[in-house]
Amino acid sequence: MSGKILSGKELSTVIREEIKKEVEQMTREGNRPGLAVVLVGDDPASKIYVNNKKKACEEVGIQSFQYFLEEKTEEKTLLDLIDRLNRDSAVHGILVQLPLPAHINAQKVIDAIDPNKDVDCFHPVNSGKLFTGNPVFLPCTPAGCMELIKLSGVKPEGKECVVVGRSNIVGKPMAMLLMKENGTVTVAHSRTANLKEVTKRADILVAAIGKPRFITADMVKPGAVVIDVGINRLETGKLAGDVDFENVKDIAGAITPVPGGVGPMTITMLLRNTVTAAKIRENANT
Ligand code: NDP
Repeated sequence: MSGKILSGKELSTVIREEIKKEVEQMTREGNRPGLAVVLVGDDPASKIYVNNKKKACEEVGIQSFQYFLEEKTEEKTLLDLIDRLNRDSAVHGILVQLPLPAHINAQKVIDAIDPNKDVDCFHPVNSGKLFTGNPVFLPCTPAGCMELIKLSGVKPEGKECVVVGRSNIVGKPMAMLLMKENGTVTVAHSRTANLKEVTKRADILVAAIGKPRFITADMVKPGAVVIDVGINRLETGKLAGDVDFENVKDIAGAITPVPGGVGPMTITMLLRNTVTAAKIRENANT
């Protein structure tokens, strides 16, 4: 028997409809949320991500500002743009598409974003707030995973939760959110010994590795909720997750597909954060 398929695409449609209504109301009150997206260079995958974000903004009525800078753009030029966007009252959220070219210090750029406009939740102030359990923004991909876990009907409280991957963008903040929901969290990575034994303990398993179909059926506890963050382009041009979906779906209690799982939820959470940022600014002005 197949596990429940957790469709991020369907859940996104529902949440985006709610966001749209909220944005309409805010726009009527003269506080239309705005998101600035900055892309440096012409990486094709990044261009697709940026366009998807623009389309999603338009769908819900968020004003979108796009800045395409040449690959050879100097760090200072980018920092000057961030400074301008920090002061622009029509811009509530700023997102710099990663990765940046090697000659630009990505951390310095992230640090330059006003924490109240840091809708990606990458700024150290926002990571710190997340770490201490009082986040203002929730990091988009992990927040999207939490919504999908909620959809599964399984509550993290008291459960064995295993996150494979410890990046600052996905693995670490994911562990924080699961811990906040009272899960017992293990973070595994490339140096983890006996990975299979660790993943097999998981009632909730999150894979954020970047290796196609790495999590195989023998690594999964029967009935587990399996969240696949991975987006890997195969030689055939098709996308594959970090989980061997075809075989794991038969033993998992619930599982996210790739595409159509975590990906659309990440963008939806970005829209939600942009609305939150606009509200923060409005409250600061009143
Ligand atoms: P990183 O490359 O930054 O991190 C990968 C993590 O996987 C590292 O912690 C690494 O361990 C761990 N890892 C690598 N090999 C193994 C292994 N053999 N066994 C156990 N752990 C291993 O990737 P990201 O976190 O940025 O992204 C992960 C995946 O998620 C990618 O496919 C990416 O494209 C996708 N992604 C999807 C998003 C979405 O919206 N759906 C958003 C962001 C990312 P170590 O630290 O020891 O090196």
